[in-house]
Amino acid sequence: MNKKLTALILFFCAALIAHAATRPNVIIILADDLGYGDLGCYGHPTIRTPNIDRMAAEGLRFTDYYSGQCYCTPSRAALMTGRLAIRSGMAGHDTRHVLYPNNPGGLPHDEVTIASALKAQGYATCALGKWHLGDLQDYLPTKYGFDYFYGLPYSNDSDWTDPKYRNADTLSLTPDFHHFNVPLYRGTNIIERPVDQHTLTKRYTEEALGFLEKNKKHPFFLYFAHTFPHVPLFASERFRGTSRRGLYGDAVEELDWSVGEVLNWLRKEHLDNNTFVVFTSDNGPWLQKKWNGGSAGLLRDGKGGTWEGGTRVPAIAWLPGKIKPGLTHELASAMDLFNTSLILGGADVPKDRPIDGVDLSPLLFGKGKGNREVQYFYQTDELFAVRKGSFKAHFWTHEGYSKVKPEQHNPPLLFDVSEDPSEHFDIAAQHPEVVAELTSIYERHRATVTAGKAQY
Ligand code: MG
Repeated sequence: MNKKLTALILFFCAALIAHAATRPNVIIILADDLGYGDLGCYGHPTIRTPNIDRMAAEGLRFTDYYSGQCYCTPSRAALMTGRLAIRSGMAGHDTRHVLYPNNPGGLPHDEVTIASALKAQGYATCALGKWHLGDLQDYLPTKYGFDYFYGLPYSNDSDWTDPKYRNADTLSLTPDFHHFNVPLYRGTNIIERPVDQHTLTKRYTEEALGFLEKNKKHPFFLYFAHTFPHVPLFASERFRGTSRRGLYGDAVEELDWSVGEVLNWLRKEHLDNNTFVVFTSDNGPWLQKKWNGGSAGLLRDGKGGTWEGGTRVPAIAWLPGKIKPGLTHELASAMDLFNTSLILGGADVPKDRPIDGVDLSPLLFGKGKGNREVQYFYQTDELFAVRKGSFKAHFWTHEGYSKVKPEQHNPPLLFDVSEDPSEHFDIAAQHPEVVAELTSIYERHRATVTAGKAQY
């Protein structure tokens, strides 16, 4: 090889390495069923979350961020693909909200995930914790661009050994993990069953630090989807019985510890100013679980519903030195993490399919306002409500997990969720022009969205 060609190749290699080094790492930390009111920085009076509160003080805290949907499976499908779950067939239906053990379906393999897109850009990728996008071998995280998986294929209350535990024992203050025959996976192998849930948060965290240490020299994507505070609740010995909010508070405070471990590692390794970290939740609190469920704060209802408490959840974006600390009232969605992560990682957002996420970069990096104009509220595969700006119109309403059939509204109920975040005061009669606009958005969306083949 002549000298000029060698020099040219070396130059391009060096340029590629330099480019890779400047691309930020991405960490998405997802709590399960954590409500809008369950963190210190979102106003909880007794649960102590100093690490997440510090993250919020150093980062951008969202007041109007929505998870992908009001149940676990569709919410995660939306986050991972940047698409409404209806499009991938992962929205469920009125009698089946999420995937259960041995369901034949899962996230379709032609979906682009954050992991597959970033892996193609040279990122090391890792999924920790709860997956819930398919539990058969063909649907585990390593089939979707993740190099490594350590966690549970579905919720920690699945696989109950007796149906009574699902309803009665999950309300117990002393749950027994033997009542839930849930497997723990490493890669595609079951390594423990039933998993001892007391130490899950601790073990996930150790795995996270191990992955980070191993991959600190090149870009990485860590999807850290905690099992808690989804019921049944467990906490390790160090945290059990230590909070003023009972077992729920113990589990959330251990989660906060875990967040601190990850952020402190980034600070120690001087990777904090090159790692985009988001902390959020997959849906609102499971209110039917009474004292073992969380709180949506001043928002109406919780998990399973299309009132604000079902999907409006805590969200903090953190990248010291690049994201200016503050508070934003701009609209944002879990699906926006797809676009934002891909763009930060140098990947193209797919153009061959509808993408419902938008790029949050202008908002995050102080170069403009949020790009999200409209938020759609699905109850499984049915569109129930639409928000644009401060106005939200409900065409159907249904309390989460209620046995009462959904109620249709024509004209829709209308709320100004900035003035009235608790959705108490229907103002449709005072704003016919807003009702007309939101009705037109609702009808246009229903007429144009194409539902994917139902996976469960
Ligand atoms: Mg959930």
